[in-house]
Amino acid sequence: MNCETVIRNARVLDGSGADAAVVDVALADGRITGIGPTLTVRAAEEVDGAGLVLAPGFIDTHTHDDTSVIETPQMLPKISQGVTTVIVGNCGISAAPVRLRGSVPDPMTLLGPAENFRYPTFAHYVNAVRTAQPAINVAALAGHTAIRNNHMDRLDRAATEEELRGMRADLQEALDAGAIGLSTGLAYANANAATTEEVEALAALLRGSEGVYATHMRTETERILDAMAEAFAVGAFAHAPVVISHLKCAGVDNWGRSEEVLQALEAARATQAVYADCYPYAAGSSTLDLKQVDERVEITITGCAAYPHVTGKSLQQIAQEWGVSQLEAARRLQPAGAIYHSIAESDMRRILAHPATMVGSDGLPHDSHPHPRLWGTFPRVLGRYCRQEKLFPLAQAVHKMTGMPAARFGLTGRGLIRTGYAADLVLFDADAVIDTATFAEPVRAAAGIERVWVNGILTYTAAGTTGARAGQFLARTGRPAHA
Ligand SMILES: [Zn+2]
Repeated sequence: MNCETVIRNARVLDGSGADAAVVDVALADGRITGIGPTLTVRAAEEVDGAGLVLAPGFIDTHTHDDTSVIETPQMLPKISQGVTTVIVGNCGISAAPVRLRGSVPDPMTLLGPAENFRYPTFAHYVNAVRTAQPAINVAALAGHTAIRNNHMDRLDRAATEEELRGMRADLQEALDAGAIGLSTGLAYANANAATTEEVEALAALLRGSEGVYATHMRTETERILDAMAEAFAVGAFAHAPVVISHLKCAGVDNWGRSEEVLQALEAARATQAVYADCYPYAAGSSTLDLKQVDERVEITITGCAAYPHVTGKSLQQIAQEWGVSQLEAARRLQPAGAIYHSIAESDMRRILAHPATMVGSDGLPHDSHPHPRLWGTFPRVLGRYCRQEKLFPLAQAVHKMTGMPAARFGLTGRGLIRTGYAADLVLFDADAVIDTATFAEPVRAAAGIERVWVNGILTYTAAGTTGARAGQFLARTGRPAHA
């Protein structure tokens, strides 16, 4: 048998959560064509994986890479972590379908400036991704806030019946063009006035489409349980699986409540499909939000158009220099991006370890001094939380990054090492893999990622990118599988 590549002698973690087995894996025509001990194949390239782990390429379940996959198709922050697929369109904001009326509403600014929004329909976006040929695969949610903004003159109120009709037409077009579901960002001012009924009227379209409902909930602080109940109600109404985005207990007064939060998640799981994504850091990041300014929380600025020189500085430092309160400094900096050290490490660890939790970076690629999660999330889970802190076994960590998200988001034929599956693969050194991006120096590639293949094409090695760009747009194909 001939093939393009065979990887021999690696410890193979197949993404299912099963223990590793030392087997050979053969690739041809973008697919896995053989798996077994000592495969007798003639390969154009033989790779010795002895001492290394071979896993399915990682799926970043929570990204804001919508326009990055087009503007910076090499996607180095992600491919260098072993990520071969990103799910874009989270938190209610997506690059499509978007027909801007005036300025870019918060937090759609996380996807870049106005000129990045060039996709009036979802089909336009799909075409643009295919034309850009990014290095990694892309699956996309349609964002509620993006769609609201197409139909409403102001976003600080609920949508009217007529506006809702237009919004539903936009969402239907997106689903027909391959969107994998709907996302909301109800905590943000530009979606917060939406009623549960408004969200349900949109989510109802998921019923026939088998898409997922991913939600940055209405709040992650004191009333988080109410917000979870709302998310579950929307999912139940739409008969759609719910993914709670970046699940956390945010804010000092809310620390220590992760057990309570996970109990609520467990209770919902008795009757419906509910999951979460989580990044492995005790700090969040988004646009600079006056509501989150709290003198007890360290806040650093990730970017600011009006005062670029303050980037990387803490709000406390800026306030001191200006002789004003932190709240006043934050007001003057608008609009800006920020990192909030507002999560308890113990809560984050408990949520990350939960069996319903997948890994999602929530990296913000347009910040000039980004949260290190953009470059570090996956190696940090493997190196710090798995190897060093033994929070869960390696097979489990890989499952949270591969087989589990592929099943939950309906990415058919990916996320597992199986014959016939797409050859998205990462070869890494389990004894050395670690994030090197820090809050001080956030733009640094991880260590220990040896080789990454996307659709069978070698795209990244420890020496850097190969220049290959073999990613595909992954249109919704089938029904998500639910445990
Ligand atoms: Zn979010």
